Amino acid sequence: MPKNSINQLAKELKNFLATQDEDDLITAAASTAAASVSCSPKEVTSKEETSSGATLTIEFRRSTPRASTVTASNTADASIMNTTQKQAALKELAETIQHCSRCPLGATRLNAVPGEGNVNAELMFVGEGPGFDEDRQGRPFVGRAGQLLDKMIAAMGLTREQVYIANIAKCHPMVDPLHPDKHGNDRAPNAGEIACCRKYLEQQIAIICPKYIVALGGVSAKALIADAKSLGALRGQFYDLHLDNVKLPRPVKILATFHPAALLRNPGWKKDAWIDLQMVMDKLGLKGARK
Ligand code: SF4
Repeated sequence: MPKNSINQLAKELKNFLATQDEDDLITAAASTAAASVSCSPKEVTSKEETSSGATLTIEFRRSTPRASTVTASNTADASIMNTTQKQAALKELAETIQHCSRCPLGATRLNAVPGEGNVNAELMFVGEGPGFDEDRQGRPFVGRAGQLLDKMIAAMGLTREQVYIANIAKCHPMVDPLHPDKHGNDRAPNAGEIACCRKYLEQQIAIICPKYIVALGGVSAKALIADAKSLGALRGQFYDLHLDNVKLPRPVKILATFHPAALLRNPGWKKDAWIDLQMVMDKLGLKGARK
C-alpha cells in the first residue's frame, strides 16, 4: 500500500479511537477472578501486597501525574457545591453505581458499596474494594479491618461520621466468584476493574472535595498517586491529587499508608501507620483522642 494511504489510514484510526467512549472498549469478559477488562492501556507494572495478603501485579496507564482533563459536565461545575447539592449529587451517583455493570464485578456482587460519610468531610479514606462483610451490608469498611479503621479515626480525634470512606472499586472482587459465601475469598481489584470504576471515585472526590485523602494500602495509593513505586516508597509525603475524568474545585493532597487489613496481619506496622496519620492531623490541626 502506498505510504500516503497508510498515513491516511492511521490518521483515521486515531481520530476514530479518540471519539470512542471507554464504555465501548470494555471487554465483556467472563466473571472470573482473573477477568481482564480493557478500560485503559498499561504503561507501568508493579507488584504489591493487597489487603487480602496476596501479591497483586498491577498496571497503570501513566507513570507521572497529569493535569486534570475535564469537563464541567462531570461535576456540574468546578466550584465547591453546597451541602444540599453534594447530597443530591452523591445520591444520584450511588444509584448509578448500584446499577453499574461496567466491569464483571457487577455480575457477582450482592451489593455495590459506593461509600459513606460526611459530604463536607475535610478528610477522606480510600481503600481498594469491598470485602465479604461490605458486600453483604453495602457499606465500606464494616468488617474487622473496618473496626480497626474506626479506631484509627478515633485516635485522630475524629468520628466515622466526620470523614468520608470509600473504595476505588465499588463491588466485591472475589478470588472465586462461583462461591461468594466462602470466607477468605477477597482479592484486590485488578487494573482493568480499577480503570473501569475509578471515574465513580473521582466524581465522589470532586463532589466532596476533601482537603486530604488517605489512601489505604498500596493498590489504592498507586492508583490515585499514579505511581508504580512500592507503598513503602510512596509513604511519608503528601502528593497533589490529579484526576483523569473530573476537575477538582480546589487542590486536594493525598498521603499513603497501610491498609487496616495489612495492619491486622502485621501489628508491628501500626506505629508507622500512626506516624502517617499524625502528618494529616498536623495539617488539619487535630490534637488526637484525649487519653
Ligand atoms: S466495580 Fe465499579 S465499574 Fe465494576 S460493576 Fe462495580 S461499580 Fe461498576
